Amino acid sequence: MTTAGPTTLVIFGASGDLTHRKLIPALCNLHRKGRLPQDLKILGVARSAKTDAEFRDSLFQGGVRTADMGPSPEEWQAFASRIFYVQGDVASAPGLEGLQAKLGELEALADGNGNRLYYLALAPSLYEPAVNNLGSLGMAREPSSQSSGQSSGWRRVVVEKPFGVDLASSKRLNDLMQAVFSEHQVYRIDHYLGKETVQNILVFRFANTIFEPLWNRNYIDHVQITVAETVSVSQRGDYYDQAGLLRDMIQSHMLQLLSLIAMEPPSSFDADSLRDEKVKVLRAVRKIQPQDAHSHGVTGQYQGYGSEPGVAAGSRTPTFAALRLFIDNWRWQDVPFYLRSGKALAEKTTEIIVQFRCPPHLMFPMAQGADLPANTLSICVQPDEGFHLRFQAKAPDTWFQLQPVDLEFHYQNAFGDQANPDAYERLLLDALTGDASLFARNDEIEQAWMIVDPFITGFTADQAPPPAEYPLGSWGPREADAFIQRDGRKWLRGCGGH
Ligand code: NDP
Repeated sequence: MTTAGPTTLVIFGASGDLTHRKLIPALCNLHRKGRLPQDLKILGVARSAKTDAEFRDSLFQGGVRTADMGPSPEEWQAFASRIFYVQGDVASAPGLEGLQAKLGELEALADGNGNRLYYLALAPSLYEPAVNNLGSLGMAREPSSQSSGQSSGWRRVVVEKPFGVDLASSKRLNDLMQAVFSEHQVYRIDHYLGKETVQNILVFRFANTIFEPLWNRNYIDHVQITVAETVSVSQRGDYYDQAGLLRDMIQSHMLQLLSLIAMEPPSSFDADSLRDEKVKVLRAVRKIQPQDAHSHGVTGQYQGYGSEPGVAAGSRTPTFAALRLFIDNWRWQDVPFYLRSGKALAEKTTEIIVQFRCPPHLMFPMAQGADLPANTLSICVQPDEGFHLRFQAKAPDTWFQLQPVDLEFHYQNAFGDQANPDAYERLLLDALTGDASLFARNDEIEQAWMIVDPFITGFTADQAPPPAEYPLGSWGPREADAFIQRDGRKWLRGCGGH
């Protein structure tokens, strides 16, 4: 793992939203913290014509200027001097001639032997031509010494989600990537894995002894994972109407969270050991038949979705889904994992709630026959990152009245305001240093599609009922409540909720 030697980060799609709002602000922060390799250059590529100065100005106006705790003018100047731009079209090999010439100039000092990280910040339809053209121009080739750990002249590629739209298309894309790059060169990004709280799940589980003995079917009743957004699809109607909630959220972010919660401890903290264990979990998730999708989940659509710009009239695309998954292994047999996500919901939150089993016998008179809430552990991924452990206490000055109370850990209190960098800072740095632990491997992506595909097929079949409507600002359709109530459970709020 190294960045030794001059390195160029080539961002394809450099005039786009992701580059302006996420990549450049994250790189600028890394620069300010002194974490970027000293000789790193950033080269933006897109079809529009721009000078280096115009590109730098557009990046400053487009994301950096408005960022919280943005850079001082001096810091920006120093960072901006690393940034260059070249006009290029990834869809054709001749369209990349200008890029090759510019790379030649930037790498001249490295005897043409500089490292390159290609970042595909492009619409997914451009991944295939981009990868093909990088391959046909010999731009993916790296010295054979790379596999033996030598450090100069490496080539890596970062691919943004969505990685395919189903199992078949993700396999095609993986095959294409592997015809041009080796797996060790490919970094499939899921920005959830760059979040501090998500990485902290690993530390929480595997650097402490008090929870792991309870982390199984003997003590855990069920797990809920909720990713709720308050925003509607707004300007992304075109994309969203094709994708829908299950592809956009469940196949990627939510199954990543599930695999971290449910995985066995890896033997060491290297990328493949970690990813091997995640893949084992995804493999063990019970696959359903499409005709059974409605027994294992519900979908919803917020009122007014059909009138959003870019959305087809009468669209049946779900903007909400709740699923129940089982993991067929010794640790988790018969423990349901409920996944719930939606747009235009009441609150923005990402949380994982582990509900433990109730005590086998209650001796307290006030609690007998009462509905005693079980212990819960809530992992709040956003917005208020932290952990809450809920347990029963005796309410003061009562005859053994029980009251749930929380033990809480908040990142902000423990580590201060600066504690949580944006996920892209972690991920960009890891891609530059060659640590793929927080990136998805090809088999992980394919296993995730194997879980989600039958749900999508079942929910969108011609004879399937349409998604249930729900009001904006609610917690989704009533059908989602009925779905979990049929299992004798209810949706829980752990982080700031009750
Ligand atoms: P945008 O549409 O904002 O940007 C796309 C960029 O691609 C533009 O710079 C465009 O510039 C460039 N482009 C288009 N065609 C070509 C071409 N043939 N050759 C070279 N450049 C081209 O998209 P986003 O930045 O929003 O998204 C990029 C990717 O990141 C997508 O896959 C998206 O799903 C993913 N993503 C985005 C997130 C976000 O917050 N925006 C979050 C997570 C993932 P020009 O027209 O000048 O060529």
